[in-house]
Amino acid sequence: MSVEKIKGLISEKKIVCPKCKKAVQKFDKYVETMDSVWDGAGDSHTQAAGSKVTLICGNAPCSWQERSEYWENYIDE
Ligand SMILES: [Zn+2]
Repeated sequence: MSVEKIKGLISEKKIVCPKCKKAVQKFDKYVETMDSVWDGAGDSHTQAAGSKVTLICGNAPCSWQERSEYWENYIDE
């Protein structure tokens, strides 16, 4: 997951605050988390890299925010 994807989802209002059910307005502190990949013995097996963000609801008076690696759980499809 890239920061562009998170930005896109937020601008499309696809990430929903679990508290007030409104679209999350912003995020902060994007961190790319890379899992180490062992690429030995011809066995190239890749592990997905994640990204950790602080989702911030931003819909006053709701003050919900959460730092999560599993922000995809909040995507409203
Ligand atoms: Zn909220």
